[in-house]
Amino acid sequence: MAMRRLVLTVALAGGCGGDDGPAPMPDAGPTGTPSIEGTPVSSFETTSCSTGSVLELSRQIAEETDCLMPGQLVKFDVVAGLQITGAAVLPYLGLDARTDLYAAAAMAGASPLQITSAFRTVVQQYLLNRWFQLGRCGITAAADPGRSNHESGRALDVSNYSAWITILGNHGWAHDVPGDPVHFDHLASADLRGTDVLAFQRLWNRNAPDDPIAEDGSYGPTTEARVKLAPAEGFGIGAVCAARRRFEIAPPDIAVRPGAWQAD
Ligand SMILES: [Zn+2]
Repeated sequence: MAMRRLVLTVALAGGCGGDDGPAPMPDAGPTGTPSIEGTPVSSFETTSCSTGSVLELSRQIAEETDCLMPGQLVKFDVVAGLQITGAAVLPYLGLDARTDLYAAAAMAGASPLQITSAFRTVVQQYLLNRWFQLGRCGITAAADPGRSNHESGRALDVSNYSAWITILGNHGWAHDVPGDPVHFDHLASADLRGTDVLAFQRLWNRNAPDDPIAEDGSYGPTTEARVKLAPAEGFGIGAVCAARRRFEIAPPDIAVRPGAWQAD
C-alpha cells in the first residue's frame, strides 16, 4: 500500500494539476498497476456519515475530470475571507465560479465564508444519497448520483449563509434552492455535470480491464454497481492526462441527457 501511495503521489504531482498555474504535463502516462482492490464504497453505506471516507477515490475522479476538460474544473485555495470547514471538502470549482468566489471572499467582513461542500464526485453523491434513503446521518436532501449540482463544479454549501447571501449574490452566486438554505449555485459557470461520471467510468475501465463498462457519462445500474465496488483508497492507476480529449468529449456531448438535475 505504501508503494502504491507513493506512485499515486508522483502521478498526481506530475499529471493533472487542476489549477491554472503551469500547464499539466500532457505526456504523463499511466502510473501504477491496474487494481480495484481496497475498501468498497458500499461498505460505508452503514458505517460512515462523512464523504471523507471516499476522499482519495474522489481526488482521483476530480483529477481525471480535469484531464478530460483541462482548466475547467480548478482547485480553489483558502484565501483571505474564506474558510473550508471539514476534511471532506473537495476544493474544486468551475473556473468562472472560482473567480467570483474569490471576488466575494475579498468582501468578507468579520465573518469569513465557511464552505462545507463544493465539488462532489459521483461516489460521494452515491453515499450521501444512500444515507438519505436510509434515514442516516441527518441528511435532509440528497440528489440522485450523477444529478447533483455539486457534481457540476458550480455549487457551494455555506454554513454561515445568512451573512453571505447578498455578497455572494452580487458576485453571481444565486441563493436559489428553497428548503436548502446553505446551497448556492453559480449559474453562469460551465455546467460540468456528467463529467465526474465519465471520469469514474474511465478510471474503472483503466483498472478493471476484464469488466469494461460504457464511457458515456450517464449514471445507471451498470455504473452504480461499479461505484459500490470501487476502492475508497483509490484505484491502482489514478488519473491519466496523456490522452487529452478536450475536443473529443465536449460539454454538449455529456450535458444533454434526459432527467432533471437536482440541487443537493
Ligand atoms: Zn448544496
